[in-house]
Amino acid sequence: MITFRKLISLPALSLIMALPYAAKADLVVLQYHHVADSTPPATSTSLSLFEAQMKMISDLGLDVVSLGPATREALSGDAPQTNQVAITFDDAYESVYNAAAPILDQKQMPYTIFVNTDAVGGPGYMDWAELKELSSNDWVTIANHSIGHGHLARRSGEAEADWHKRTNRSLDVAQKMLEKQLGATAQLFAYPYGEYDEALEQKVTERDWLGFGQQSGAIGHYSHGTRLPRFPMANAYGQLSSLKDKLLSKAFPIDASRLPDGVVSDNPPSLTLKLEAPLSASRLTCFASGLGRINFSASSDTVTIQAPKALNARRFRYNCTHPAGNGSFYWLSQQWLNLDAPED
Ligand SMILES: [Zn+2]
Repeated sequence: MITFRKLISLPALSLIMALPYAAKADLVVLQYHHVADSTPPATSTSLSLFEAQMKMISDLGLDVVSLGPATREALSGDAPQTNQVAITFDDAYESVYNAAAPILDQKQMPYTIFVNTDAVGGPGYMDWAELKELSSNDWVTIANHSIGHGHLARRSGEAEADWHKRTNRSLDVAQKMLEKQLGATAQLFAYPYGEYDEALEQKVTERDWLGFGQQSGAIGHYSHGTRLPRFPMANAYGQLSSLKDKLLSKAFPIDASRLPDGVVSDNPPSLTLKLEAPLSASRLTCFASGLGRINFSASSDTVTIQAPKALNARRFRYNCTHPAGNGSFYWLSQQWLNLDAPED
């Protein structure tokens, strides 16, 4: 594909750099678990909502694309001028095989299923024959979601050698099982519960994989390959009233590799952002999980965001948006992981 960027000659570069960021388009990844009406509400999208979401994507004229190549393209800054959408399902639930896959397969619409391999064939989960059948379609990608869906960030008090052994096994045995059962396997990993720390990110990097979390936001040139955002699409989060803003959102123009990995040391944690044009503190809006909108302090180009009180959940987020032109928003979600809170 020939992009605008490749068509220009070098002397025009300064002109291009002065263009508003809004000219860039990004990749928006949707994250599903169950697509059904009878499964646990926190992880379920009703079939009628799923169908309405697919219709909105189509009505907005957005292409649904394959996760791996589109992510690498977005990270390189070579994304096309219109946002693209990738669809992902975690845990390989039976409802995805029964309800969502037939809709997507009929349109040959790309999607990725992240599989925790020990669960395959268990009650409520797809079996290997079903995964093999889906993966025989060119538009379907099956990828790694660990062996046993454990919490993979290093636990307080866990010896480093024990952690290496536990996580290496969880990553590598799952990948080998996918290869054995399904053939070639994608270089993609979804962190169980969206939980990661820097050491786990390092393991993803060493394997040349991309690592996907469960914090919201779009993927673009500013994103980081081992902390890639996805928008959760369960009923509580995937309603049509907010979906358009998500589908048209853009990666927050701050280098995501310089943000914290989110492991909480002080609670409430503090997030400092250095804003550069076109960002301004006066147009920034931030929210904390369960607390709604929160204030932040600003001093020239630096803002410091901190919830007004400690948060008890194991995982919580600060989400910030900023207008990006043409009615779209830059979207930042900083996930925090409180390792002292019980594992779920
Ligand atoms: Zn999962």
